[in-house]
Amino acid sequence: MKKIIILFSVLILSTLRMAFSQDDFETKLLKQFHSIQSQEMMTWIEKLCSPEFNGRLAGTPEFIASAEWVAGKLKEWGIKPAGGNGNYFQWFDFPYTVVNDIGSLTLNLAQADGSVIKKNYIYPDEYYPGMNSGSGEITAEVIFVGYGVTAPELNYDDYKGIDVKGKIVLMNRDVPYSDPRNPEYRKWVGYCYHQYKLENAVKHGAAGMLYIDGAMANPNISYDPSIIVCGIGPQPLADIFAGLKTTNREILDKITKTFKPASFSTAKSVTIKANTTRHPEGKACNVIGMIEGSDPVLKNEAIIIGGHLDAVGKAGKVVNGALDNASGVVDIMGAAKAMALSGIGLKRSVIFLFIGGEEGGLVGSRVYTEKPLFGKDKTITYINLDMVGNGTGLSVSAGSTYKDLLNYFVQANTKYIHRTMQTSTPVPGSYYGRPRSDGVVFSMAGYRTMEIGNTDWYKKVYYHLPGDDPDAITIDIMEDVSKMIYVGLTNMANDASLKF
Ligand SMILES: [Zn+2]
Repeated sequence: MKKIIILFSVLILSTLRMAFSQDDFETKLLKQFHSIQSQEMMTWIEKLCSPEFNGRLAGTPEFIASAEWVAGKLKEWGIKPAGGNGNYFQWFDFPYTVVNDIGSLTLNLAQADGSVIKKNYIYPDEYYPGMNSGSGEITAEVIFVGYGVTAPELNYDDYKGIDVKGKIVLMNRDVPYSDPRNPEYRKWVGYCYHQYKLENAVKHGAAGMLYIDGAMANPNISYDPSIIVCGIGPQPLADIFAGLKTTNREILDKITKTFKPASFSTAKSVTIKANTTRHPEGKACNVIGMIEGSDPVLKNEAIIIGGHLDAVGKAGKVVNGALDNASGVVDIMGAAKAMALSGIGLKRSVIFLFIGGEEGGLVGSRVYTEKPLFGKDKTITYINLDMVGNGTGLSVSAGSTYKDLLNYFVQANTKYIHRTMQTSTPVPGSYYGRPRSDGVVFSMAGYRTMEIGNTDWYKKVYYHLPGDDPDAITIDIMEDVSKMIYVGLTNMANDASLKF
């Protein structure tokens, strides 16, 4: 009987202790939950979009200043430096180009009487200066080269039988194979990079390049001093095709159906002027902070949440990158601060990764995956945020095999936030197709990769264009994204039953 009483009291006591510590956990969790506030987050957005950082182009001193600012915040909150050598920065070489002015794009229309009518295009609606263009001026005939791809193993060459030496090539983004989710696309994927297309044009002797990219900022292209580059929108394209009895669209449709190139001289002359300065000495960095796990075993497992800090800089008007991607950065900062200050000892380690050089070709994420802090077998997941600050709903996506990981966020929303929420199994499109985000880099490197986003976007998006300013953001959804990350990550980091 005595034994039973003792056993019983021990049981009651331990149940009470568990209940108490659960209460304690909940109190701590909620205290910091309510401290995540849109007002403060908006001040961070404004800071990141201030003239001081000049569009955060990776490589520039202004980008580095923005990295130092983020690192300063992590330090203030007691988040440990994890970039290497006891600081927050993981450095890498990052040559960059400064666009000194908007240059110009002109169509030269030869008239029957020998005179030339010049049509100047408007920045930034009709053309956008090539952000890695060589500096100078080129006037030449425009040669249409489809996708600008030379793929002998696929028996496809846009340059076959056509001379582009000293000419201006006109080309499209992407590749003839149009469905990035089809495994067949993988054969083509190496040819879809902007970097490749420019290098291939240079190889064929082109002196200028018109890129049909909708006219927007794009530092993600190779640099070669011998080629002058300009991005164009629909108007110059229509003018170049005027009188040709076909359109770019028609030709592309034919190419994607037949896989036969259809390159030709447009017989139009164009002048591109570019004024740029190359900085081969440029360096950029990732900013990495860590909350080290407190459990002797689980601390060796990490959860990484990341988003790119860099933006596309300034070519004429500054592109502040408020939505792309100060929003993702600030969503993560809000959660990081709350996790650091909550007083909840996280069992697993959590890494906050602010990526540099995304806009210049996903460089920072490649650098991290090549020199990771934790092996990928010790990394529970990499969660990417890019352009997460517009709309009214939440979304979390992950591969179908990682359903357990989704649930931490679903529960956070159900219990505390109550927004509409979309979860999806394979991360849409990009993850298995076009390599256009840091998430793809992690995914291709073999990490379980997730993506947090928003649904029901309702503000106008100025993608890679002037206008991507703090007022392009919906800050109240950002507060909720941050809260969802905070609760979801805290629970994921503390769940001893989570195993892979
Ligand atoms: Zn982005």
